Amino acid sequence: MPLPKYAYFGDKIVPYPDAKVGLLTHGLNYGTGVFGGIRGYWNEEEKELFIFRPLDHFQRFLESTQLLRMELPQTREEAVDILLELIRKEDLHEDIYVRPLAFYADEIIGVRLHNVTPIMTISVLPFGRYIDKEEGAHVMFSSWRRIDDNMIPARGKITGAYVNSALAKSDANLAGFDEAIMINQDGHIAEGSAENVFILRKGKIVTPPVTDNILEGITRNTMIALLRDELKMEVVERSIDKSEVYLAEEAFMVATGAQVVAITRIDHRKLGSGSMGPVTQKLRDLYFNVVRGKVAKYRQWCQPVYGKK
Ligand code: PMP
Repeated sequence: MPLPKYAYFGDKIVPYPDAKVGLLTHGLNYGTGVFGGIRGYWNEEEKELFIFRPLDHFQRFLESTQLLRMELPQTREEAVDILLELIRKEDLHEDIYVRPLAFYADEIIGVRLHNVTPIMTISVLPFGRYIDKEEGAHVMFSSWRRIDDNMIPARGKITGAYVNSALAKSDANLAGFDEAIMINQDGHIAEGSAENVFILRKGKIVTPPVTDNILEGITRNTMIALLRDELKMEVVERSIDKSEVYLAEEAFMVATGAQVVAITRIDHRKLGSGSMGPVTQKLRDLYFNVVRGKVAKYRQWCQPVYGKK
């Protein structure tokens, strides 16, 4: 993966190789950081790059910083302006991924969230697929439980908490699966290592509520709106049993990085028909049109980088 030419680091854009930290950096040692993940989609007809829901992403990013007692000087509006400046400087004209990151930058010994100083950084890079088999993924239930809100809140995108995701993801991949779904402390479906989960059962779409130890996904929110308003489907937010996923007609995972991934096998069982179902297919097609700025009704979610909104 080629490295970016520039990065935003603390209070300015610098050459990427200059955006460095020392070995004793608090965030590196104790996982006291928060991050985001935003996509930008190139629209070839308009020769424009659209960033998808950047204000909502920075809103969640700032909420995550709040959980770690961080006080950053940047507002979410300022963060979007910085991002646009960085992308223009990087001169990207293709699909991209944006990685905002804030962490306690002090080079000290001491596990705590007080009397430490955070900085914000942003990197941007060209990006394709996150999961290869988006059209038909083979997923397993992980033996790793999802972190509980009283341990490390999954609602925050906290760097240290992603060890939980990495354990589940690697065990799944090394066992030949494309992704893992984690169960929460009370045995219900939480989420994938980096995706929210939806199932279609008896004609209704069901997804875990935000109180079931999940990240409050921007894509999850987008999908609920598209399913209700465009596909005219009933969407229910409630706890989901593992066996309901086995019996689902369709299931899919959604995230900024993973986009819309059809789950066609779960553990060693066929899910639904065993190939992408019609609802997942329709939602996927719609989503890709929306994020590329091709659906007028949802154009307000798409922030152009080079032209005017
Ligand atoms: N859950 C987890 C654990 C994630 O890391 C992500 C990716 N950010 C998601 C869900 C999906 O969130 P979003 O749609 O905001 O990218």
